[in-house]
Amino acid sequence: MANAVYKLLVCLKSTSNSMDKTSTIKTKSKKRSTTAASKTAPPGASRKPVYLDTSLLFKAVMSGSSEGIMITDVKGAIVKVNNTFCEATGYTAGELIGKNPRILKSGRHPRAFYKDIWDTVSCGKNWQGEIWDRKKSGDLILKRLSISAIDGGGPEKTLYIGIFTDLERRIFRDEALTVNAYFDTLTGLPNRAFFIENLKHLIYESKRTGGIAAVFFVDIDRFKNINDSYGHQSGDQLLLQVADRIRPFIRKSDFTARFGDDEFTFAFGSLENVEDIKTVALRLRALFSEPFVVGAKKIYATASFGISVYPSDGDDADVLIRNADNAVAEAKRRGKNTFAFFSHKMNIRAQERIKVENELYNAIQDNQFELYYQPIVELDAQQVCGFEALIRWAHPESGVISPMTFIPIAEETGMIIQIGRMVLTKATKKIRQIQDLGYNDVYVSVNISSMQFRKLGFFDACNAIIDAAGISPTSLKIELTESIVMHSTDETVDTLERFRARGISILIDDFGTGYSSLSYLRNLPIDILKIDRSFISEIENKRDALAVATSIINLAHNLNMKVIAEGVETEEQMRLLQRNSCDMVQGYYFSKPIEDQKALDFLQAFRAHA
Ligand code: C2E
Ligand code: MG
Ligand code: MG
Repeated sequence: MANAVYKLLVCLKSTSNSMDKTSTIKTKSKKRSTTAASKTAPPGASRKPVYLDTSLLFKAVMSGSSEGIMITDVKGAIVKVNNTFCEATGYTAGELIGKNPRILKSGRHPRAFYKDIWDTVSCGKNWQGEIWDRKKSGDLILKRLSISAIDGGGPEKTLYIGIFTDLERRIFRDEALTVNAYFDTLTGLPNRAFFIENLKHLIYESKRTGGIAAVFFVDIDRFKNINDSYGHQSGDQLLLQVADRIRPFIRKSDFTARFGDDEFTFAFGSLENVEDIKTVALRLRALFSEPFVVGAKKIYATASFGISVYPSDGDDADVLIRNADNAVAEAKRRGKNTFAFFSHKMNIRAQERIKVENELYNAIQDNQFELYYQPIVELDAQQVCGFEALIRWAHPESGVISPMTFIPIAEETGMIIQIGRMVLTKATKKIRQIQDLGYNDVYVSVNISSMQFRKLGFFDACNAIIDAAGISPTSLKIELTESIVMHSTDETVDTLERFRARGISILIDDFGTGYSSLSYLRNLPIDILKIDRSFISEIENKRDALAVATSIINLAHNLNMKVIAEGVETEEQMRLLQRNSCDMVQGYYFSKPIEDQKALDFLQAFRAHA
């Protein structure tokens, strides 16, 4: 017996060491067990350690190890487990001794996986890898496991020792390990790596059993707006609550993950037919039927669902995920808060989208963008007082492309940062030209995207561009949408104050279309409200549209702000606005957005005429 115990200790030491070598995860606690073993190791393997009580030592190693240890006999019956093993699995030693380790099987691995383990260890080799087991509670546990055989002095006396590290616990113990982690640090849900790994197994199983499986891609609708409007902390709170609603929904055979920012994925196996999938989709959608309560606010968030099905939409994890992702884009196109099944047509659309992204990327490199300028006219003086800079993409094959088409893609991909910088540079150069012609009272306003505004150092970058152009900051105005300034965070207020202090006016674009709360207007340094075109186009015929426009004018004036009416197309509209004390107008009545030099010509002609 003493001999077997000694061999076991040597085995423990070498297993533990080799785990350290293969695993990228190292912890202090692991060192503890290896040190315990190495202190007891004799200088030469052939010398008998007469100075040690090996059974005492064995007990110490078993009880002191932070790795779970299980020993089985040659027939596979469990003969010994340590406390760590019991704590991690939820079983008592009494419940395990004499049982077969298959009691711990998770159902996550194919039969071939276990066969490979036993083929390896039964020929005397060491097996190492990651394995999903199931705890007594039914929860899953992800282990890094090492199994080896111990020669107990004859074939019947062979013992097998399995030593594992609970990866999940390690992950949470040391944040630096998140690179290797299988769990999302915010929600605690499994992450993308977990999902892909397990989807592979699910597909393998479905292939074996001939079953149907479904992958759901879930994307929260307008999450960017939620983040912009309520701040990132509230956005995080909402994601946490979504995760809390998801957890109880998941059956033992299904799995979920937080796949990306506001994206969650689900995989469901053992489905009978498409009707089953629709039922699941409806139940998933119901998770969003109640509002989310974040602090004192109730946030109504919906989600869009994209579904791909094994085997019809793909037989590999990556393809199924990609197709479910394409389907979610389709659900968004259909108006959000709905679900869409993947179809092969979507693949074509997705490829087109990738093409546009690539072309947009090249357009930045090749500088295919131009700024058009739309005059803004002061009504009292009937004089051009400024221009709005509006970007156009001069596509080499498709001609001029509207910003409505490519700005959303630029925002989603982050390319808006480079594009925005380029717009500011060109616009400030235009201001320089205008000032060189002697018009120091004419401004240019530039549209700023939320991502651009929130980017660290935006104010400084703006300043550098202004300085490089050598212009007065008062001749530049920035146009922001309501979503940026609503529920503004301290950083937003700070940035706005810095712009104001520098003399750069802030304008709220498309005013009236965003949010109902007006309280932010009192607290933020805003100079101009631009009434949205949708109201202006109806002021001649609809009294309520005129009522909205005049209310905005009165509100702005009471708060010491000026008003621009956008989309003025007729003389009648212009007169109505003038009668109601609107300060400035912009629209096709005076001019469409015009190219570089034409804008200067327009200014000179208008001023000469006035
Ligand atoms: P916006 O800032 O509200 O710009 C006004 C839009 O209304 C412009 O469309 C302009 O051409 C159009 N418009 C002006 N007057 C009239 C009119 O009388 N009738 C009609 N039917 N339309 C009129 P555009 O140039 O297509 O720009 C669309 C949107 O794209 C802009 O809306 C703005 O949100 C965005 N955008 C344009 N340039 C930039 C840019 O440099 N950066 C960013 N982030 N967004 C930009
Ligand atoms: Mg604008
Ligand atoms: Mg606008």
